[in-house]
Amino acid sequence: MANFYTDTPELKHHLEHPLMKRIVELKERSYADKDKFDYAPVDFEDAMDSYDKVLEIVGEICGDIIAPNAEGVDHDGPVCANGRVTYAPGTAANLEACRKAGLMGMAMPRRLGGLNFPITPYIMAADIVSRSDAGFENLWGLQDCAETIYEFGSEEQKQKYIPRVCAGETMSMDLTEPDAGSDLQAVMLKATYSEKDGCWYLNGVKRFITNGDSDIHLVLARSEEGTKDGRGLSMFIYDKRDGGVNVRRIENKMGIKGSPTCELTYKNAKAELCGDRKLGLIKYVMALMNGARLGIAAQSVGISQAAFDEALAYAKDRKQFGKAIIEFPAVFEILSLMKAKLDASRTLLYETSRYVDIYKALDDIAKERKLTPEERQEQKRFAKLADSYTPLAKGMGSEFANQNAYDCIQIHGGSGFMKDYACERIYRDVRITSIYEGTTQLQVVAAIRYVTTGAYLNSIKDYEATEVAPEMKPLQDRLKTMAAKYSACVTQITEAKDQELLDFFARRLVEMASYTIMGHLLTQDASKSPELFGDSAQVFVRWAESEVEKHINFIRKFDKEDLAYYRK
Ligand SMILES: Cc1cc2nc3c(=O)[nH]c(=O)nc-3n(C[C@H](O)[C@H](O)[C@H](O)COP(=O)(O)OP(=O)(O)OC[C@H]3O[C@@H](n4cnc5c(N)ncnc54)[C@H](O)[C@@H]3O)c2cc1C
Repeated sequence: MANFYTDTPELKHHLEHPLMKRIVELKERSYADKDKFDYAPVDFEDAMDSYDKVLEIVGEICGDIIAPNAEGVDHDGPVCANGRVTYAPGTAANLEACRKAGLMGMAMPRRLGGLNFPITPYIMAADIVSRSDAGFENLWGLQDCAETIYEFGSEEQKQKYIPRVCAGETMSMDLTEPDAGSDLQAVMLKATYSEKDGCWYLNGVKRFITNGDSDIHLVLARSEEGTKDGRGLSMFIYDKRDGGVNVRRIENKMGIKGSPTCELTYKNAKAELCGDRKLGLIKYVMALMNGARLGIAAQSVGISQAAFDEALAYAKDRKQFGKAIIEFPAVFEILSLMKAKLDASRTLLYETSRYVDIYKALDDIAKERKLTPEERQEQKRFAKLADSYTPLAKGMGSEFANQNAYDCIQIHGGSGFMKDYACERIYRDVRITSIYEGTTQLQVVAAIRYVTTGAYLNSIKDYEATEVAPEMKPLQDRLKTMAAKYSACVTQITEAKDQELLDFFARRLVEMASYTIMGHLLTQDASKSPELFGDSAQVFVRWAESEVEKHINFIRKFDKEDLAYYRK
């Protein structure tokens, strides 16, 4: 009987963050549901207790069902016949277990059949599911497409689709096309309105669509004839019950094999417009992608956890030269850095999810009543923080997860190269995290403006002013020195007023900002729970310091003419 929630006390530490009080207060609206639903909480403690209990169920299902099924699912994979997809038997069993436990549509309001979970405990469930099977997380996690219908759909659409998602129907997000990947403005799938039938029809092709044979699709399509950019795109809902979309094939992939990645053909597929015309990419996909990016950040953290667990267990067990390999400094250094990167990406994940929670809850309240000026300010502040932290959580979290999966194999030596150990699957599964939902390069494109506007530096200044435990003070001081060097570097680059040079250094600048932020968050975690995070804070800040020095050294010695060596 394994429980992937209770065996990881770091999760509860993050769940019990002081900001949860405000999040629950906003999400539960003075506990207004308590008289309507017997499972609705009556106060803050009751709400926190319900998150804890549901996460325990998630942990149990992951430990006892999903993780043991992962190897079989990786081997069997889904199959496609006659335009339809059949999941691997293990995937079907996992989905059934989640449905039975009521784990679908978790963040949706109770009146539509959900659990009204804030994003933070929902994302924690995603972290746990990903540790058990990263590919399954994709299918289960697509439930957050319902959020887009909830935010932007009509009341009729909410009533029609969201209860179905909460009851266990699955979703997909159909954006990518052969010529529209990172650049979604190039989407060409055609949406035509029929005056005669009073509805829209979709025609064209999508590719690389996860769970492409889902029950309910969100589709980005070109509704404005003759347009070529993002302003001609709208968002549609396609219901599989109406027919018109077929799966041409399932991609033969490197990893996350249980998750069917589909090429889809749309032939006069009837669809409903979601929200307003022309706002498909500009507004709705941006919101959808921000949610999905947080999901991939959680997936990355879950995989990092799995990689660390496997590496630690192997290093304790494997003996060479008469002792366990964990006793060699070269090995224990790798392991400690893996744990530090895991803890650093996890603390950034939950800092981000709390920011998302606050602004989204206020957005939702604003649909019912006018926000007070203080609430409006709070909404604006947290929306900006969420926007600036999401690309860091996704970008850096997925890079750390990839590094951890690499190191996990290294610790296993030759055995790691064999299919006998889970680390081989983890290594294949993790690779996609830094590609889909926007590659790391695209996360850097999203994040760099917060470097140049000083938004990250402002957050860092707030962290510098936060009280930490006396034993963490020396680390906080080291982080202050790092931030001063980062700030000087940003000034040097922005003063040059050279866009190409800024683009060239962008990744380094974004990394410096995020390492400093993660370092601060870890010193705060270690101040509260030194037994859980003390070592990671020490290891991470030392590592981050040397990385920042490396970047600064590179930037300082770089001349504009040097770019010529790099152009290929
Ligand atoms: C397994 C899998 C599942 C997927 N699931 C879905 C899904 O469910 N729904 C969906 O809509 N899509 C899905 N995708 C598509 C995925 O989101 C895209 O593959 C991804 O966004 C990258 O697009 P691309 O493959 O066209 O690469 P390209 O856009 O061609 O990028 C190629 C390279 O160029 C770089 N690059 C591109 N533009 C820039 C720039 N401006 N600055 C710097 N570098 C740049 C990229 O970083 C990358 O290294 C999935 C893909 C895979 C592989």
